[in-house]
Amino acid sequence: MPELPEVETSRRGIEPHILGRKVKGLVVRYWQLRWPIPRDLPALLAGHKLQAVERRGKYLLFRFSHGCALIHLGMSGSVRIVNVSEPVAKHDHFDICFDAGKVLRYTDPRRFGSLLWAAGDVGEHKLIRHLGPEPLSDDFNWQYLYERSRKRKQSLKTFIMDSKLVVGVGNIYANEALFASSIKPIRFAGKLTKAQAKCLVENIKRVLAQAIEQGGTTLKDFVGGDGKPGYFAQELLVYGRGGQPCVRCDKLLKEIRIGQRTTVYCTRCQK
Ligand code: ZN
Repeated sequence: MPELPEVETSRRGIEPHILGRKVKGLVVRYWQLRWPIPRDLPALLAGHKLQAVERRGKYLLFRFSHGCALIHLGMSGSVRIVNVSEPVAKHDHFDICFDAGKVLRYTDPRRFGSLLWAAGDVGEHKLIRHLGPEPLSDDFNWQYLYERSRKRKQSLKTFIMDSKLVVGVGNIYANEALFASSIKPIRFAGKLTKAQAKCLVENIKRVLAQAIEQGGTTLKDFVGGDGKPGYFAQELLVYGRGGQPCVRCDKLLKEIRIGQRTTVYCTRCQK
């Protein structure tokens, strides 16, 4: 599933090719994504200049003078830049065609993604409005995490993965940040100390920033017909390593489920 670093990498990969260009048309081959694509969107977009390509949480935001198009990649979606002559493949559900023959092509085998439109302030859109701060922004700091965690009885891992608290801390990054912070994922959020909050916030920022940096090596994959952009190998210390030795102490890592999500941790290093 594309996580925040993949979405940010996608944004950086496509932005230089389409920013400032005028939309010639929107070609929709499959309307029923997670939510139906608005039927009037082709008419709404045609002739308008793309003013900015931004990201909020896992949404890509395409800003125009009269509103904002939102793309979510769902479980298996990806975007790339192709030439207008590039043959269409099975799961290529829509194209936003720009001038100079540049096409933003959306591919999504499982069709859980979306393409929506916000006419007014996109920050007030129902899917955006309730999102917590960006993890790499100053609004996400240890004081914020500490205050919000008070009296919370859920596990710390579930707590930090809640997009109303902070966006973009997916399962991989929650596992990795908790290991790096030496904190047990099953600890009650309300038991978090100030020192742990500081450490955890630092590590969440670091693992996400590192993943975005690694994604930077794949930017060239966003242009052309055959690539599968947006996914990249990362160096992971606990995620996917249940039953293997801890890199710090050699004890075998424990794998459990928290809220149906695979959770891996070291019972010796994480308190
Ligand atoms: Zn260990």
